[in-house]
Amino acid sequence: MHQHRPLGLSFLRPKRAHLAFGAMTVTAFFACLPMIPASAEIVVESVEASAPAPEPAYVAPDVAYAAPEAAVREDYTVTHYSVIQYPIAGDHGIISSFGNRSTSCAGCAAFHSGADFGGSSGTVVTAMADGVVTQVGPDSSLGVYLKIEHVIDGQTITSTYAHLLDGSMPFQVGDTIAVGQQVGLVGMTGAATAPHLHFEIRLGGIYATAVNPVPWLAAHVTG
Ligand SMILES: [Zn+2]
Repeated sequence: MHQHRPLGLSFLRPKRAHLAFGAMTVTAFFACLPMIPASAEIVVESVEASAPAPEPAYVAPDVAYAAPEAAVREDYTVTHYSVIQYPIAGDHGIISSFGNRSTSCAGCAAFHSGADFGGSSGTVVTAMADGVVTQVGPDSSLGVYLKIEHVIDGQTITSTYAHLLDGSMPFQVGDTIAVGQQVGLVGMTGAATAPHLHFEIRLGGIYATAVNPVPWLAAHVTG
């Protein structure tokens, strides 16, 4: 029997120790229980708060958006289109029209390739548009003259200013001319019997087809 007690005691001791440990564990577990759900809730709430809100469906604004209209122009040079002026001040009276002449004068071509603007000697003659000088003279027909090449509405146009006073036209081929710039003074050099400005419009370069400058100017001059 004596031999069994120690055995029995030794058998009980670990059992009690186990029970005591188990009780402590259970107590600790229940002691912690109130905290576990609380902390769990906080974590859940913070996760929900930091979670990105669902994207709201896109709703088009009530006000219709007016898209800007694309700039429409046929050519970059159109910006210069409106800057065309009469080549001479005053009433632009025509003393000899473009085309076939009913009467010929010494040195005059039967076909008049320009229009003659009346003007007293010394009247200022100005460039009808921006351009570059492409031909200058004197010669026996046009006298002291210059031709200016322009790019108007995307097309090359040449204007001619003739019978200018000697010494009044200082330009050379290649010079740049601005619209309204003085290019000479009315005179009667070359085949002219009275002071006037012989003015031509050619649809192209210096030898291109000449057109009646009066309706051409009427259609193009804006100021
Ligand atoms: Zn003429």
